[in-house]
Amino acid sequence: MPAAAGAPGRVSAMGIIDDLVANNRAYSADVEESHLPVEPSSHLAIVTCMDSRLDVFAALGLGDGEAHVLRNAGGVITDDVIRSLALSQRKLGTREVMLIHHDDCGLQTITDDGFRDELRESTGIAPAFAIESFVDVEADVRQSILRVRRSDFLPYRDSVRGFVYDVDTHALREVVVEPAAGGGDPDRPVVEVNAPGEEVV
Ligand code: ZN
Repeated sequence: MPAAAGAPGRVSAMGIIDDLVANNRAYSADVEESHLPVEPSSHLAIVTCMDSRLDVFAALGLGDGEAHVLRNAGGVITDDVIRSLALSQRKLGTREVMLIHHDDCGLQTITDDGFRDELRESTGIAPAFAIESFVDVEADVRQSILRVRRSDFLPYRDSVRGFVYDVDTHALREVVVEPAAGGGDPDRPVVEVNAPGEEVV
């Protein structure tokens, strides 16, 4: 096996992507061929940050085929994340959502206005998307929980829990939303979904 990807200082003359393709050649030769169902076996979707220090599968003890993992800068609940969660729940059988933000996030080092100005000055166009920087990571997790719970596109919103991952200790801590802030069972109509064999609860 080649050295593990991500080892410090490991950029060859060929470039890192060539190295990774070589790693994959060795990996695919080493691992037994199998075909898993497209539906995640744990019926779980995880939304988290793109941070390179968070190995979601290792940190949570997950294996291939067990969960959907959606990642973006900050683990923000954007319209595109709602799109993926809607597909995940309505077509691929997931029933729970786990949100994982983390300490020392890059989005805590910028401001929305500052980065928006930087983009505008550099390109002449202000972006249509929100930057979604934040200061307080736990407040941002609570915001994300509420965005999931309030999305009518998602039929399963009762089991959504949020966490902060410590990138140094690798430990999770849970962030709870008080019922007064919308953390209780949402009073909402049940939405029928196209999922054979599953009861809508
Ligand atoms: Zn981050």
